[in-house]
Amino acid sequence: MRYKYCPFCGKELKEKFSYDEGYVPYCEYDDKMYFDLPKPTVVVAVVKEDDILLLKQSYIYKNSKVLISGYVSNGETVEETVYREVREETGIEIKDIKYLGSCCIEDKELLMLTYMAYYKSGELIKSPEVEGAEWINIEDALCQMSEDAVGKKVVNEVLKQIGYEGSNAYRCNFKN
Ligand SMILES: [Zn+2]
Repeated sequence: MRYKYCPFCGKELKEKFSYDEGYVPYCEYDDKMYFDLPKPTVVVAVVKEDDILLLKQSYIYKNSKVLISGYVSNGETVEETVYREVREETGIEIKDIKYLGSCCIEDKELLMLTYMAYYKSGELIKSPEVEGAEWINIEDALCQMSEDAVGKKVVNEVLKQIGYEGSNAYRCNFKN
């Protein structure tokens, strides 16, 4: 979001030249620059033997399941967010997290940092903010995630990472 007004004093922002960034919205009263920054979020694929953990979150996608995701809090490392979001949404502990790459969704101003992790301990106890949390056989995951484009990319990468050699898991890659 390109700021027009100062969130502190409400006055209209001027533009100020900031060497690397060009002209940046600036409040001369509060002496603050408002850079146009994406919001960092994490997306996590948790693997347990042949299963992967999927959530049902109808407010995000009506007809499909999604991977665990959440915003990085101020003062938190991205790795801490990965462990926290999995714990908060599903009650389990994970181990061996691995960064798989990033995606951006410009219209939602999101920078999504994607990870895979392995199940470590605990029973699935979904949080009240989650409609459903379920271990799904990894060969069926892509078929149940039709609306989650980023999640599907992550699952495709997970299949490579775990050395999956079949073809069945990919059968729904291009179906909606
Ligand atoms: Zn101001």
